[in-house]
Amino acid sequence: MNFVIAIDGPAASGKTTTAKEVAKKLNITYLDTGAMYRAFAYYVLSNSMDIEDEDVINGVVEKVKIELENVDGQIRVLLNKEDVSDRIRNEMISQAASKVSTYPKVREHLVKLQREVGEKYPLVAEGRDIGTVVFPKADLKFFFDCSVEERAKRRYREYLEKGMDIDIEKLKKEIIERDNRDRRRENAPLRMAEDAILIDTTNLSKEEQIDIVIQEAKKRKAGL
Ligand code: C5P
Repeated sequence: MNFVIAIDGPAASGKTTTAKEVAKKLNITYLDTGAMYRAFAYYVLSNSMDIEDEDVINGVVEKVKIELENVDGQIRVLLNKEDVSDRIRNEMISQAASKVSTYPKVREHLVKLQREVGEKYPLVAEGRDIGTVVFPKADLKFFFDCSVEERAKRRYREYLEKGMDIDIEKLKKEIIERDNRDRRRENAPLRMAEDAILIDTTNLSKEEQIDIVIQEAKKRKAGL
């Protein structure tokens, strides 16, 4: 298996910012597994399917082809060859992704795609079950945590930058709801792998988070 860094943790805990930058600095692939669940949820909603209807959703799993492409340093998410990157970053899709991700067949399909990427390239992958299920033998595992207040603030600022002004209390409620669903589901719940390093990002800057991961990676693999 190629060199793998796994970063798991709850919503908005700093995984994406860190993983993207670590991938750039170490010149390895960045795998955003959440984007895959989001793209799948987008498929379900845009085809007017009932998100609660697991049987119907199971029936379309094989029709959903998701690819992550690096275009000029930006990761684009292709759903059946269509670029949906800008349409999957909103709260409706966040909640829908968290719902479809409870369905074992959906997970099986996406985990297979994720492992295929790992067979081809060294990578840093982020999600909820990377260190526990997708790449249990990853060279280096992290579990990011962060206070819910700080996470809501970070999401709020991200949305604001995109011109979306969402009530911060509503965001906080949605984050809590999503985390609870992700932690309580039977299949591959959000949890820390026994051999993961726990990082509380509440009081860390982006640079500090990135630096911790890079330093650990360099310790594990000479020449990175
Ligand atoms: O990381 P992100 O917020 O984009 O993930 C969206 C949702 O996708 C999560 O709330 C979770 O339900 C699901 N997910 C998952 N397993 C992963 C990555 C994301 O279940 N490895």
